[in-house]
Amino acid sequence: MIADLLEKFGIHQTHSGVYAGDWITKPDGLEIDSINPSDEKRIATIMSGSRKNYEQAMESALEGFEKWRRVPAPARGEMIRQIGTALRKNKKDLGLLITLETGKILGEGQGEVQEMIDMCDFATGLSRQLHGITIASERQEHRLFEQWHPLGVVGIISAFNFPAAVWAWNAILAAVCGDSSIWKPSFHTPVTSIAVLNIVSSIMKANGHADVFSLCISDMHLAGEWIAEDKGIPLVSATGSCEMGRVISVKVGQRLGRSLLELGGNNAAIISPSANLNQALRGVVFAAVGTTGQRCTTLRRLFVHDSIETTFLEKLCNSYGSIRIGNPWEEGVLMGPLISETAVEKMMGAIEEAKNQGGKVLAGGNRIPGKGYFVEPTIILANPKMEIVQQETFAPILYVMPYHCLEDAIELNNRVDQGLSSAIFTDSVREAEQFLSYRGSDCGIANINIGTSGAEIGGAFGGEKDTGGGRESGSDCWKSYMRRQTCTINWGDQLPLAQGIRFDL
Ligand code: NAD
Repeated sequence: MIADLLEKFGIHQTHSGVYAGDWITKPDGLEIDSINPSDEKRIATIMSGSRKNYEQAMESALEGFEKWRRVPAPARGEMIRQIGTALRKNKKDLGLLITLETGKILGEGQGEVQEMIDMCDFATGLSRQLHGITIASERQEHRLFEQWHPLGVVGIISAFNFPAAVWAWNAILAAVCGDSSIWKPSFHTPVTSIAVLNIVSSIMKANGHADVFSLCISDMHLAGEWIAEDKGIPLVSATGSCEMGRVISVKVGQRLGRSLLELGGNNAAIISPSANLNQALRGVVFAAVGTTGQRCTTLRRLFVHDSIETTFLEKLCNSYGSIRIGNPWEEGVLMGPLISETAVEKMMGAIEEAKNQGGKVLAGGNRIPGKGYFVEPTIILANPKMEIVQQETFAPILYVMPYHCLEDAIELNNRVDQGLSSAIFTDSVREAEQFLSYRGSDCGIANINIGTSGAEIGGAFGGEKDTGGGRESGSDCWKSYMRRQTCTINWGDQLPLAQGIRFDL
């Protein structure tokens, strides 16, 4: 089954990890193994890129850009539409492959491919709407307007947990804007990135633009560092931990490049006494346990009103007890493994830390014995001041804390360094509006009666504070991938100066 899947996507047991208009036959970086987190077996071996191979991929991306930016945007949109069609045809199998490599469940693997398809549809429409505005000029017989031009090669550094969708948020948007891109995926998910490149490059080759999308898989973070330091890359879009963002943003900033940062979250939800508790329960469990707690938007902190604390926590612990954990390829499984042994160690370490700091484990708390990186989803009764509660542990640990007054709960929601996603479950319009007001949540995403995870691509996605401030995917995010030009045309025969300045010769 796995061999068939690899064959379908043209992935050899030992495969090149560098795409520069075509696969580089034998990249000379270290060989890295892709590991199935469900059974710890090797899926395939990837020949990663050396610095020289990276330069080859960059050269191809630069050449690609020169040609691609000349293609009219609606014609670029048409090729992106074709990519969307190819992804539709491959949705089931690519979803399976994502499930295999990340451990996320089947529905979520396919949901990720659907997100890529949605991005292609969105970008196709956008290809006829990359327009600027005309502004009233203060000078007589002048026209003042803005226009948008392609930017260049966009560097994309992506995390393991959305190994395909995050590429699409960036690369598809960049492509419709007339940019080429170079992608450095996570070393945990190289096989998915090769499959994506194979699907996309078959379309781009047929259209004579094989060098719009480049890829450089590297040992650990190497290609990420090369991208960050590369003056030839005007925009670096980096998705990953806050630690990574701190390193990348300094390197990109030093060369005065632009960075678009999508970093970690420490997301909270508030359950008000007026909430529909069954709705809240489903929203909380999906947000806290889905993707094995490995979404940037995973629910990590839960503030429950003290009047419903006992009832709600009882329901929550019962639900956790009924979650089927196992091979994510199996129907009915709701939680697969964590990504790696290190991730399991970090989760177990955080649980110990929480206990030492006064937390009480209400559900879960253990590693599941046997092969694979399986753990129990865990609920810990905590105090909002505990040090561990301030941190993002990338695992299914939910800290629950009672609150009495909504203002306090909102203050606690905002107290952490990260500012990605937030939610309130309430049937009170006053509470909902307060949560969304300037006195409410300080996060990039604020939801009412929906959990913290599971965003649609139509909105701008991203967060504030240590989450990095970047916005990707829908809305007007395309503007980050273009350069804005303000143009003034004097069509009269005088030379009036702005601000009424006189400079008579
Ligand atoms: P990570 O930070 O370990 O790695 C992310 C990517 O950055 C990888 O490709 C990695 O090789 C690269 N990288 C890491 N350190 C680097 C360095 N010093 N120099 C150059 N490149 C470097 O993150 P991860 O474990 O893959 O993913 C989990 C993290 O990503 C979580 O913190 C999660 O919240 C975050 N995330 C954020 C979003 C978002 O949109 N805000 C989306 C997905 C994941």
